[in-house]
Amino acid sequence: MIAARIAIVLLVIAAITFIGFQVIKVNASTIGFAYLVAILFVAARWGLAESLSASVAAVACFNYYFLPPIGTFTIADPQNWVALFAFLATSITGSHFSTQAKRRAQEAMDRQREMEKLYALSRSILLIDPAHPTPKQLAMHIAQSFEVSAVALYDRESGELYRSGPHDFAYPNDQLRQAAFQGTSFRDEATHTIVTAIRLGAQPIGSLGLQGLDLSDSALQGLSNLVAIGLERTRAQEAASRAAAARQSDELKSTLLDALAHEFKTPLTSIKAASTSLLSSSTLKAEQQRELISIVDEEADRLSVLVTEAIQMARIEAGRVVLRRENHTVQELVESVLLKVKHAVEDREIEIKVAPDLPPVWADRELIEVALRQLIDNALKYSPAHSPVLVAADLNDGRVIISVTDRGPGIPEQEQLRIFEKFYRADASRQQIPGAGLGLVIAREIIHAHGGDIWVESKPGEGSVFRFSLPASKEPRS
Ligand code: ADP
Repeated sequence: MIAARIAIVLLVIAAITFIGFQVIKVNASTIGFAYLVAILFVAARWGLAESLSASVAAVACFNYYFLPPIGTFTIADPQNWVALFAFLATSITGSHFSTQAKRRAQEAMDRQREMEKLYALSRSILLIDPAHPTPKQLAMHIAQSFEVSAVALYDRESGELYRSGPHDFAYPNDQLRQAAFQGTSFRDEATHTIVTAIRLGAQPIGSLGLQGLDLSDSALQGLSNLVAIGLERTRAQEAASRAAAARQSDELKSTLLDALAHEFKTPLTSIKAASTSLLSSSTLKAEQQRELISIVDEEADRLSVLVTEAIQMARIEAGRVVLRRENHTVQELVESVLLKVKHAVEDREIEIKVAPDLPPVWADRELIEVALRQLIDNALKYSPAHSPVLVAADLNDGRVIISVTDRGPGIPEQEQLRIFEKFYRADASRQQIPGAGLGLVIAREIIHAHGGDIWVESKPGEGSVFRFSLPASKEPRS
């Protein structure tokens, strides 16, 4: 490389000499300036070796072609010495300044590149996925952002060492451990290896080993600060989410217990009161006895519903719902559900409006009946005793939509999403109407398992419409 440049430099001096001597025939001082300019140019562009070669060549040519006696290399004349000195001084000073300027520019570029890499790393730290070990991701991001050949990150808290990069970190692990415990750092210029402690405040919390990278002290400091922040940030997040999960699971358990205990207690108390009266009093009339027995019967039904809901919920939670799908007509499903709620329906008007040419649905009959029954039970439960309930079905966009409409109190908009949450019961219902707040969750899970959707449309004071969609079966019914 250098040899090629020196050859070019010699050619340039030769060209200047040829032009000055043969073509335009200039005097000694003009050609002297031309040489100087050329040497300065070479010094600024390339370096000392090239500009010195240019100086020597220029002195030789100057001496031979332009200083009398022309055609000889006599350096006796003091003019020659002045020229030689001027050329050499120009080349040394010029190349010195240019090297310095180049070094500064290079340093500035290096710093800028380091800053860009640190910035890229800081951005990737923000995107760290809390589901995977943070130090592992940090090591990976450092290897990617700084393009190093090996990264080793020692986490003092867990005592684990995380590696990344195309090669293995070639230093013994003890050195990383020592840095993490004693806060020591070292650099090995020969192997381009850096080991530094990661500190949070004054306390070392780990250490970082890098190989195949020359990093300035300030960038190294910035890098280790970023790693410390990354480690600490996810630790704080983990602690917060652990606390939140523990709180949530505690809350969930106690809500479940409260809800179920309360719901079980009410019918049990009624049953106990009725059965005690029946047993202890021999003077009860047949009519009173019948009334007490019907209380026992009704409350036992209520208990049975609760137990069923609790079991269905537990199954759904455990992910044990298996769909046994077949083709069923909607008319058939609706009638079957109404048959099951018959005793509650006796004095209620329930209208069925199933569109005539509805295709069958591809569904698990038992589960869809459970979902539909939840909606019909709610419509009956939450609307005035003599108000009608409508069960309708039609086709929309290739999906069968089944709806249950009541003329109850309706549901305020801010509650319409919340009522599908587990144990959520609207304020108005909580006091007056029994329930555990599980029915709609069960219905929603069943409908979602079928690939459908469930939602409510309601205006307070005007009643509610609960709708759910099911995929229509494409084949004709078998
Ligand atoms: P539960 O009926 O046992 O409380 P659900 O999950 O079936 O539990 O219903 C959740 C809440 O949604 C009810 O407590 C009630 O406030 C509200 N809700 C459900 N259906 C209706 C309805 N048809 N009309 C008015 N409110 C309803």
